[in-house]
Amino acid sequence: VRVRPLTCTETQRGDRRVVHSLGDGTIHVSTARHDATFGFSAVFDAGTSQEAVFEGSGMRQLVELAIDGFSCTVFAFGQTGSGKTYTLMGPLTQSEAQPAAPGLLGLMQRSFACLLEQSRSGSPGLALSASYLEIYNEQVRDLLSPGPPCALPLRWSKTRGFYVENQLSVDFESLEAIADLLLQALNPHPPPLAGSQRRRTSAHALNRHSSRSHALLTIHVRRRAVSGGPQHDTPLPAPMWVPQPSACPSKQGTLCFVDLAGSERVKETGSSGELCVEANNINRSLLALGHCISLLAKPRGKRTHIPYRDSKLTRLLARSLGGSGITLMVACISPSSRCLSETLSTLHYASRARRVTTRP
Ligand code: ADP
Ligand code: MG
Repeated sequence: VRVRPLTCTETQRGDRRVVHSLGDGTIHVSTARHDATFGFSAVFDAGTSQEAVFEGSGMRQLVELAIDGFSCTVFAFGQTGSGKTYTLMGPLTQSEAQPAAPGLLGLMQRSFACLLEQSRSGSPGLALSASYLEIYNEQVRDLLSPGPPCALPLRWSKTRGFYVENQLSVDFESLEAIADLLLQALNPHPPPLAGSQRRRTSAHALNRHSSRSHALLTIHVRRRAVSGGPQHDTPLPAPMWVPQPSACPSKQGTLCFVDLAGSERVKETGSSGELCVEANNINRSLLALGHCISLLAKPRGKRTHIPYRDSKLTRLLARSLGGSGITLMVACISPSSRCLSETLSTLHYASRARRVTTRP
């Protein structure tokens, strides 16, 4: 669980802090009418640095497991404005002139750096590629494909489970390349403007994307088999190459980052028309996710059918939630008294999620 600091607006209007971390993974919510304590694997309070979240959440281990061939997922959830995007990507910069300070980079950039470092030193033969999808109004769209967004079919097969047909995946070998990819994905139709102005549009796009749709960035980590046979001083010409008994078999893991759209009360935000349809779709898919998590949290013997098919989101996350994946869930909350009911609901949701076990 991560608690963000009170924002300037919250401080100025005199909101009180009602959430306190007690250490040892416990968190205390207290108001005149509520008094509740919750326990989690880790609690990061308002003063926690991005680096401490990366190290303390198990994110580094998750990266290593992905290299080892596991399907790993991290997702951030919580109400709009609770710090999901900040946790995953860091603060949004408004212009190229002031990029985010390295210390503020989020779990994603830190994981990319960790992966690239491993591919250079620890595990040669790693090939990295990325795909980036969003679920908007119950449609799966490819954020990497050029041109206007079009919906891709979501299918199921016995061997692959749920998968998206025809999704693009792009190889990358450097931090700049993956950063560019993200930026390009978030700003698919750049106006003919230079540098900083283009960025600004993308920052707004990011805001829209992260709050009005669910975004799933998947890094595919392929490790080619490393030969265990005798080493040749001079490489053999390609046609004469004979496979050696491999000491290290080829492996394919994934690392998926999910920035969920925040829950929203249509009544409170006064959304209407298109916005209202969006909000209803967001709420419906979050409800489906909550429902699957509640059922998965029951002991295996008492479980009924898990309705993954209720939404695109739960279909795409089926493996991460109850299958063979390894999943880190980061619940983001605001400490403000005004957010109390959403905060309590996020904490209850997170407590249920904590009881879910997968079989990696
Ligand atoms: P969400 O993605 O959940 O809607 P954001 O990540 O956009 O929320 O965060 C909302 C605001 O709060 C942003 O201005 C962000 O920079 C700020 N914020 C969130 N978490 C933190 C944090 N841990 N430290 C400092 N500022 C934060
Ligand atoms: Mg966001």
